[in-house]
Amino acid sequence: MAEPIDVFSVGNDLQISALANDRIVHAPTSVSIRDAAKTMDTEGVGLLILKENGDGLAGVVSERDVLRAVAAGTDLESPAISIINGDTFTRATPTSTVREVGLEMMENYIRHVLITEDNGELVGVVSIRDLLAVIVN
Ligand code: AMP
Repeated sequence: MAEPIDVFSVGNDLQISALANDRIVHAPTSVSIRDAAKTMDTEGVGLLILKENGDGLAGVVSERDVLRAVAAGTDLESPAISIINGDTFTRATPTSTVREVGLEMMENYIRHVLITEDNGELVGVVSIRDLLAVIVN
């Protein structure tokens, strides 16, 4: 029988760049809540990146934000940027370990972390599902 995996230490040294498979899906800041939800559904992602013209990162909309807006009875034609959680983003770098990224998720109650280079360029999104792959693969 195979040795049991120590799920608490397996991600200690593994770099997150090995796992960050989620595509970066963008929308303009003018996108409505409904269209943001449609895009996430069509693209099969749980986080949408709102972009200013150019490269500026204006906000992130997650499934959770849409859920909250629906529960609150928010007009789904209103701009998605009106329901975002702020303009500070939880980030990691490609060399961050799986453990470090998991701790960020735990501490911030989020299921997505942005992967950015040192110069701030967004190069990936990692979701809690990607981390799960470390345990079940
Ligand atoms: P989530 O659990 O990732 O679906 O998101 C929970 C809340 O945190 C939502 O309001 C998201 O918009 C927000 N959020 C998700 N990921 C990030 C991130 N990397 N940085 C900042 N906020 C985030």
